[in-house]
Amino acid sequence: MPDPNGFLRYDRRLPARRPVPVRISDWREVYPPAGEELIREQATRCMDCGIPFCHDGCPLGNRIPDWNDLVRTGNWDAAVESLHATNNFPEFTGRLCPAPCEAACVLGIGGGQPVTIKQVEVEIADAAVARGGLRPRPVPAPTGRSVAVVGSGPAGLAAAQQLARAGHAVTVYERDDALGGLLRYGIPDFKLEKQHIDRRLAQLAAEGVQFRTGVDVGVDVTAEQLRAEHDAVLLACGALQGRDTPETPGRQLRGVHQAMAHLVAANRVVAAAGEGRPALAVLPDGTPIDAAGKHVVIIGGGDTAADCLGVAHRQGAAGVHQLDLYPEPPQARDAARDPWPTWPWVLRNYPAHEEGGGRVFAVAVQEFVDDGTGQVKGVRIAEVRVEKRDGRRIVTPLPGSERELPADLVLLAIGFEGTEQQPLLEQFGVRRNSRGAVDARPDWQTDADGVFVAGDMHRGASLIVWAIAEGRAAAAAIHSYLGGVGTLPALVDPARQPLAAR
Ligand SMILES: Cc1cc2nc3c(=O)[nH]c(=O)nc-3n(C[C@H](O)[C@H](O)[C@H](O)COP(=O)(O)OP(=O)(O)OC[C@H]3O[C@@H](n4cnc5c(N)ncnc54)[C@H](O)[C@@H]3O)c2cc1C
Ligand code: SF4
Repeated sequence: MPDPNGFLRYDRRLPARRPVPVRISDWREVYPPAGEELIREQATRCMDCGIPFCHDGCPLGNRIPDWNDLVRTGNWDAAVESLHATNNFPEFTGRLCPAPCEAACVLGIGGGQPVTIKQVEVEIADAAVARGGLRPRPVPAPTGRSVAVVGSGPAGLAAAQQLARAGHAVTVYERDDALGGLLRYGIPDFKLEKQHIDRRLAQLAAEGVQFRTGVDVGVDVTAEQLRAEHDAVLLACGALQGRDTPETPGRQLRGVHQAMAHLVAANRVVAAAGEGRPALAVLPDGTPIDAAGKHVVIIGGGDTAADCLGVAHRQGAAGVHQLDLYPEPPQARDAARDPWPTWPWVLRNYPAHEEGGGRVFAVAVQEFVDDGTGQVKGVRIAEVRVEKRDGRRIVTPLPGSERELPADLVLLAIGFEGTEQQPLLEQFGVRRNSRGAVDARPDWQTDADGVFVAGDMHRGASLIVWAIAEGRAAAAAIHSYLGGVGTLPALVDPARQPLAAR
């Protein structure tokens, strides 16, 4: 029985973020631990609704009211158990998820204050570590069946853990030098310090998962070899094909880069520093890329752009502008457009935005301006009107609105076009669809029998919570394909979409 008056007694409160001047001088996470008193107070706000709409917002089906009440009553061990029943990696989602569950919380109706679900989640996840570590689960007798998982992002790792816990022999193949997918070198440490990934990897290894890094499947090992060695294959290669803008004049200039090139280079430097190795931020071909002392322009309005902003400030940029094609969203939910409990279009202020930089909305780059030596010195932008006609996006520059912004470094964070075109696809006999993703049948198999797909590679660039949900569901399908005993939990099917009004 929850506290019936909790939400009347307490307002929604988040822990204070570390002060901006302090946090931009290091790469540590922005949020310090919240403290038990605040989290128990916030969990007390949950009403344990008869119909908990927060469940519908979350593709993992997290038992939110259950663990809120367990935290309220100080029952941390049971809360840890309840949270892990539906989510393999709550320390990732608790830190990084945009929290569709909070958008769907009943306390948010009419502009109210939803429960701080994600903050409660992260504190439970950290309590698991503080109270004895992430202990490996006992695994059953081996089934004698083996699975190859290609890609070590949250989708691949969630599937690997589920399958290992069902007794299958699992090998994760990762082409990068370290495991974790985008969480490792895509997402900066100020959002997710990497010890969280390492602790989980140690747990997976103790549960029997084998890891092979530096193996590019399709190049270093063929699909045929993988099929010969394993009884099933899960492709979880992400959606890492960055969208570009080759038609914009000046795109070829030095200093104009894909955002991911900048993020990966910066995150590798932080990783090297953690190991006591000095390193420079460089592109794969050795070209230096660093925002120090530069005027930086970031094109795009999502997670990737905000991460570039935080990185640029920590590297010591002279100034940063973030450009968005779309008009500034409203501060609060427009109920006519996005009624509760759907995910609303509102202005999202990431912690990186309070660290500085200017946001410019409803503009498009007309040209990257050459300094005469082949190096970018600015971007010429115009205000634009964006319309949808016959399902197509039409961008019209407004006459007389052009101006130039200084720029020595321009980062393209304008989205992803699905999974990369790479040899592995042809070798396994799977194709990219019109969105650049790989289709799955209702049982998560691709067009190739025994070859399954999950995460961004199937859904297109999405969220960690969806990657974990799809990894778990694909693991359940693989388990039954292999004739495993019983069933594994699966909350989503390949056709499942986020809550939407239309
Ligand atoms: C900069 C950035 C910030 C983000 N921030 C957030 C956030 O704050 N919150 C959130 O919820 N989501 C965020 N996302 C999205 C989130 O990271 C992804 O949705 C999620 O990581 C997808 O997981 P995945 O396992 O499907 O793929 P990925 O994490 O992309 O992992 C795929 C892995 O497959 C490997 N691989 C590919 N091909 C091969 C091959 N041939 N052989 C071997 N290995 C291969 C890749 O190297 C990679 O490690 C962000 C994305 C980006 C780019
Ligand atoms: S919708 Fe909100 S108040 Fe209701 S059970 Fe879920 S978290 Fe608690």
